[in-house]
Amino acid sequence: MKQPKIVFTDRDGVLNRNTPGAYNTSVEDIILLPGVKQALARLNQSGYEVHLVSNQQGVPKGLMTKEDLEKITHTLKQRIKMNGASLTSVNYCLHLSDEKCDCRKPQPGLLKQAVKGRKIDFTRTWMVGDSWRDIRAGEALGCKTIWVRLPGYRKKTTDPASGKVVYTNGKEDFTPDYVVTTFSKAVDIILKEDSDD
Ligand SMILES: [Mg+2]
Ligand SMILES: [Zn+2]
Repeated sequence: MKQPKIVFTDRDGVLNRNTPGAYNTSVEDIILLPGVKQALARLNQSGYEVHLVSNQQGVPKGLMTKEDLEKITHTLKQRIKMNGASLTSVNYCLHLSDEKCDCRKPQPGLLKQAVKGRKIDFTRTWMVGDSWRDIRAGEALGCKTIWVRLPGYRKKTTDPASGKVVYTNGKEDFTPDYVVTTFSKAVDIILKEDSDD
């Protein structure tokens, strides 16, 4: 079977605005970032599946209900749809970090859930995110990773073996394959790299 074209993406800070240190707990909090709808549509038009994979610890913390989260997901899908784009799947981790589940990023469980039961060569898929957790989750499966830059991280060193830059937030290190400032720029890279293959 032909390998499907697959992009896994984080939500907050990548598709919609993120308030540092806060949770997006209601529909009013969901403000799509510039160019996101168009970028998703470009992926869809080029035959990509787009799987949303997001940690939402706000639910087990009691900051929002599952219904709130469902409303957010519904609204997000509607807004994207108005631009002719769609998400192939939406998977959330609703566990607390100390529950040690296998789906909270940096664990790769959400990505696996999204394509469950299918034979996927993860090394040909993409993971886009703004946190070290996203990059490490993608890396765990061998995905190509794109980091949407966040403040609060700095360059640590350059990995001599790969020549890639290692970033850190002081606690956690990660080594994205590509670094961009917006989801739209991530899509530029995906479309360009895959067309060169
Ligand atoms: Mg994020
Ligand atoms: Zn989980």
